[in-house]
Amino acid sequence: MNIHEYQGKAILKEFGAPVSAGFPALTVAEAVEAAKKLPGPLYVVKSQIHAGGRGKGKFKELGPDAKGGVRLAKSVAEVEAFAKEMLGNTLVTVQTGPAGKQVNRLYIEDGSDIEKEFYLSALVDRETSRIAFVVSTEGGMDIEAVAHDTPEKILTFSVDPATGIMPHHGRTVAKALGLTGDLAKQAGTVLTQIYNAFVAKDMAMLEINPLIVTTQGQIKCLDAKVNFDSNSLYRHPDVVALRDETEEDAKEIEASKYDLAYIALDGTIGCMVNGAGLAMATLDIIQLYGESPANFLDVGGGASEEKVTAAFKIITADPKVKGILVNIFGGIMKCDVIARGVIAAVKAVGLKVPLVVRLEGTNVEEGKQIIRESGLNVIPADDLDDAAQKIVAAVKKA
Ligand code: GDP
Ligand code: MG
Repeated sequence: MNIHEYQGKAILKEFGAPVSAGFPALTVAEAVEAAKKLPGPLYVVKSQIHAGGRGKGKFKELGPDAKGGVRLAKSVAEVEAFAKEMLGNTLVTVQTGPAGKQVNRLYIEDGSDIEKEFYLSALVDRETSRIAFVVSTEGGMDIEAVAHDTPEKILTFSVDPATGIMPHHGRTVAKALGLTGDLAKQAGTVLTQIYNAFVAKDMAMLEINPLIVTTQGQIKCLDAKVNFDSNSLYRHPDVVALRDETEEDAKEIEASKYDLAYIALDGTIGCMVNGAGLAMATLDIIQLYGESPANFLDVGGGASEEKVTAAFKIITADPKVKGILVNIFGGIMKCDVIARGVIAAVKAVGLKVPLVVRLEGTNVEEGKQIIRESGLNVIPADDLDDAAQKIVAAVKKA
């Protein structure tokens, strides 16, 4: 689960990490109010969307010469002008995709004078099962590009959970960033605060880009991108309360109500599969035959008829879907339950696109019979390969 920058910064502040003063704003009037509460004379007007690259982003409505989604304002009047331009408009960044995201919130921040910009992030490293840090002198830039072009400028290390964060980690970071004296000490403190926040809140990723040194000699977290481990949300109601559903895919929200593992994708073939491995294989084979999946969907091992119905409704509600592939290997899952779920869903919402069903495993004959007798226009398939070819052909023909 993702949150907005200003929410991430509030959490960092809770753990003592240095962030600028600021206030969120939903309207132009609130943005002006926020600016008046800040000391000035420099303010930052920041679009709050769940995507990075805002500074270099472009507003669809404002033409190619307009400035980006993060702007420095030199007066309250300028804050007001920028807020008017940003609110309600669509910001396109390298991370939003071409459709962009509508800016519904701003964060008005006290502006900093930047001496240096660094990159610092923490994430769960699955290979070592530890929290790992990524540090670079190349702050404020696209870290993927830095990793690709100048990998020697990136340092990574992980923290032993038995000892937790240690002073030597701080010294490692200070050295990598070329910091000495008081700044080195500040870097160590920030690192500890970030680690503590990360662990306490069960984060999956925390990216500070840039981490800056101000001309006044202070280290500060100037940006914050936070992602939480969704498996731990049950023990963080305070984090769940930060959820901004307008930033999330409506189909994914619906799927989460039924505990379905659903991810919206850009293609044309809706997929309903059981088991993550089979679902991945299904996406791959669709691509192999020249079409793209519209989603990843794992209905899980012991899904009920109700859950299958919900899943099918979510797929058919997607206007991008030009065909549906149901691919079930019945182990714990029973094929007749799937068949009944599909039919219940089709009865409720109709079926306007071709549907290929491949069933195998427990109660397969019963499942096939239910579908045959339903009178539905279903294209049966024998195996995964056959199913993929049939749905791709049906979609291409349509
Ligand atoms: P992003 O583009 O989505 O990563 O948004 P950031 O919060 O990182 O802001 C983009 C850039 O704006 C930063 O890399 C900084 O260079 C600049 N910026 C942000 N806040 C300030 C500030 O307080 N003062 C100055 N001078 N520049 C800032
Ligand atoms: Mg940034």
